[in-house]
Amino acid sequence: MKRDTRNGLVCQNATRRSFLAAFGLTAASGLTGRRATAASTDSFRFEITRSDEDWRSILSDDEFRILRRGGTELPGSSPLWTERRDGDYCCKGCDLLIYRGAWRVPVEKGWVFFAHSEENTVLTGIDGPVAEYGMPEDSNTTMIEAHCRRCASHLGHILLVEGRILHCINGTSLTFRPV
Ligand SMILES: [Zn+2]
Repeated sequence: MKRDTRNGLVCQNATRRSFLAAFGLTAASGLTGRRATAASTDSFRFEITRSDEDWRSILSDDEFRILRRGGTELPGSSPLWTERRDGDYCCKGCDLLIYRGAWRVPVEKGWVFFAHSEENTVLTGIDGPVAEYGMPEDSNTTMIEAHCRRCASHLGHILLVEGRILHCINGTSLTFRPV
């Protein structure tokens, strides 16, 4: 495993796997939604898998609800949403480096917004309406869901926000390390 050592013990960089090379930055275009279904084929396995019991032993109840059950934090509830320092944002489930502070977009909606992810770190899926975004639960809205490529943890969604396609991420799903 190649590691980024700019700041001592920091996030683990992505490993490259040819069959996933199309993910990452291109996920922001929404073009990978169909490919994300590859996650359910026999040939695909996430690098890190744990039982629910093991996940609960390393995550708080709220973290488990969001990372492992696809929940969404209430807007403004994560201290990371106002974080403006440069630094690394890593998956809380497996420590994979996914976002960098330089890619933050200052959208004042209460979540953590990025212009894009690190290459080869995000897989996408299809999700239903999100009540925390103000969407009626019985609406037919579909969302592009963002998962960690390595451990499948739910990160957030990829949305059209103020005219830009952005990653709208739960701060709860990330660990921030300033550089
Ligand atoms: Zn992860």
